[in-house]
Amino acid sequence: MSKPTLGIIGGGQLGSMLSIAAKKLEIKTVIFCDNLDAPAQKFSDHFIHGSYDDIKKINEFLNKTDVITYEFENIPYQTLNTINKSKPVLPKPSVNRIVQHRLAEKDFINKLNIRTTMYSSVEDKSEINSMQDLLPGLLKTTTLGYDGKGQHLIDSIEDLNKLDIDFSKGYILEKLVKLKKEISVIITRFSDKKYEVYEPIENVHEDQILKFSSIPAEISNKILEQSKTWAIQIAEELKYVGTLCVEFFIDRNENLYVNEIAPRVHNSGHLTINAYNVSQFENHVRSVCKLEQIPLKKISNAKMTNIIGDQINVYRNRQFTQNEFFFDYLKKQIKSKRKMGHLTTLIN
Ligand code: ADP
Ligand code: MG
Repeated sequence: MSKPTLGIIGGGQLGSMLSIAAKKLEIKTVIFCDNLDAPAQKFSDHFIHGSYDDIKKINEFLNKTDVITYEFENIPYQTLNTINKSKPVLPKPSVNRIVQHRLAEKDFINKLNIRTTMYSSVEDKSEINSMQDLLPGLLKTTTLGYDGKGQHLIDSIEDLNKLDIDFSKGYILEKLVKLKKEISVIITRFSDKKYEVYEPIENVHEDQILKFSSIPAEISNKILEQSKTWAIQIAEELKYVGTLCVEFFIDRNENLYVNEIAPRVHNSGHLTINAYNVSQFENHVRSVCKLEQIPLKKISNAKMTNIIGDQINVYRNRQFTQNEFFFDYLKKQIKSKRKMGHLTTLIN
């Protein structure tokens, strides 16, 4: 049987790493991205530049691909739905619709009896007056946020007056969790009750941007088991196909909460490239292209450092040991707070 050609919507570093994993499996890739400089085009077999609602470009993309996936969640639902009418989109568009909206996402998780922080939708400033028990809290846009963008810490009603917020855009207020630690669990689901789960990864954020990820996470056995069980439950409930990441909070009383779900490969899983026999990227490609499922084996403990902004210049001029793996995202412009590359160090 000939192998399918994989279409990937989005052309950032995750698209690059998916393309590299696909190439290893002799799967051809086509990147569709609205950024002319999309780095992933350097690693894919074909690149289509166009806006995500340009029907001519969508058709060109469809003609060149057999199965379609995406590297980020903020793709218009309409685009995914249109594509899904002629070629399979995996994970399916309905999954993305839940997960790209913070309220729908938290409602979904709570319906599974899985704990999240307390939250409420906010449609008007005055409503905050009746939400004292959610303060201090984080006011977040319900859609389109990433790396802490669109989030405001609110200690009191007075804080709100200092901010100029357009509530018609849709906001959620989340009670601030007194964080002890953050972890994530990455799972690749192939079909009913068929999945591979990576061990929990410990994550450290700086300025709400992921800075370090490491395995093993220093957590209790109870938290380890609970986080994996919840990730499996979420993936099964969504009938998910592909790689998914669940981000968790652990509070100072050892309570576990789901923070959010990413319906895609995830930054905290970059270390799986070097620390496991099969990376999160390869597993995603295997799953959406219906290739063989291989049991996961950890090769090494590891720590990943995100290289942000102009720090990349230091790494571009550095020598590395045989335990260090540097990945330059080859982004055209260096910007502060922008993820420019990462370094994974294997730890024995
Ligand atoms: P993004 O979509 O930007 O990743 P998140 O909701 O994951 O948004 O928030 C980014 C980071 O901000 C989290 O990883 C965590 O460090 C912090 N954060 C977000 N929400 C809360 C919360 N309710 N309580 C405590 N910290 C939070
Ligand atoms: Mg997050």
